[in-house]
Amino acid sequence: MNNLLICGGAGYIGSHCLRVLRDTGYNCIVYDNLSEGHRQAVRGFPLEVGELSDTALLADTIRKYQVDSVLHFAAFALVGVSMHKPIEYYQNNIAGTASLLDAMCRTGVKRIVFSSTCATYGENVPVPITEDVPQNPCNPYGESKLAVEKLLQRCDDAYGIKSVALRYFNAAGAMPDGSIGEDHKLETHLIPLVLREALRNEGKLKVFGTDYQTKDGSCVRDYIHVLDLAVAHLQALRYLECGGVTDCFNLGTGVGSSVFELINTAREITGIDIKYRKDDRREGDPATLVAAFDKARNILGWNPEHSNLHTIISDAWAWHKTHPNGFEEELLGKQPPSSTDSDNTYAR
Ligand code: UDP
Repeated sequence: MNNLLICGGAGYIGSHCLRVLRDTGYNCIVYDNLSEGHRQAVRGFPLEVGELSDTALLADTIRKYQVDSVLHFAAFALVGVSMHKPIEYYQNNIAGTASLLDAMCRTGVKRIVFSSTCATYGENVPVPITEDVPQNPCNPYGESKLAVEKLLQRCDDAYGIKSVALRYFNAAGAMPDGSIGEDHKLETHLIPLVLREALRNEGKLKVFGTDYQTKDGSCVRDYIHVLDLAVAHLQALRYLECGGVTDCFNLGTGVGSSVFELINTAREITGIDIKYRKDDRREGDPATLVAAFDKARNILGWNPEHSNLHTIISDAWAWHKTHPNGFEEELLGKQPPSSTDSDNTYAR
């Protein structure tokens, strides 16, 4: 009773979760179309390459591996891009998840942990944000995730599928042993871009918006270590296995960091005077997103113990420094330093 289907397991957050779940005794089967994910990130795990829209292949995979529960990470996840590609975001994120839920119905799988987001909240929400505030997303990405949250509740009512939606705040960092980390084809996230600038000194780093109503005018976000997210998935799964009801939880730290604060911390850690330019606001960005995470702490027993900004950026820096071209190094046959999949440095 320990077989998990990890949709999107070859991606950034999924690949970190895989290792935590494996090391606590689960058999993890990855289902990924490798559009964003990396084969090298799932070495040693069974991998089925397929689309979320392929309901029949999903159902076959579930039957083949006698899957008990599903973790669903597979989605388009860029706020800025979603403003220009709303159809793709609705199609992939909503219709794709509907297909997965259909496959679960066909095969009788009754548990799913879903990657949701703080982008479902939108603007002008009291900070720190609790789960019960009205959700009014201000971009198609957040809208697509909110639609799935609603669908999950409907699937419980209609088919008895129990789910946990984990509303991530800003996922960041890397496996502390430096073996895997963030590597997106199109990189738009702040921390990788700041560290790329530290490595390359290209003068490309921009701060989007310096006139927000925040402590220093730049956007404030709640950065959460990817390892803490991984542990939350383990705890959410155990919650469902123990008969937990369908619910949603914020995963953040309660501490907001501005873009300028983040760049300054990165300067301290790297010892490099990272340069940036001030630029216009990016469409779809709320000024401040900071979580209240009491609910996850009280019900799941979760605590974001790796998530201070210093640890997050130090771990991310260890990955980027040794993998300046992401997983490409490994494709070319070069062994990056300190790449040990089995090094259980996050054990608790
Ligand atoms: N940001 C920035 N410059 C960049 C990328 C991001 O100033 O090159 C800002 C962005 O406007 C947001 C914050 O950094 O306020 C975090 O953005 P990111 O894309 O990392 O995550 P998001 O909040 O969109 O999920």
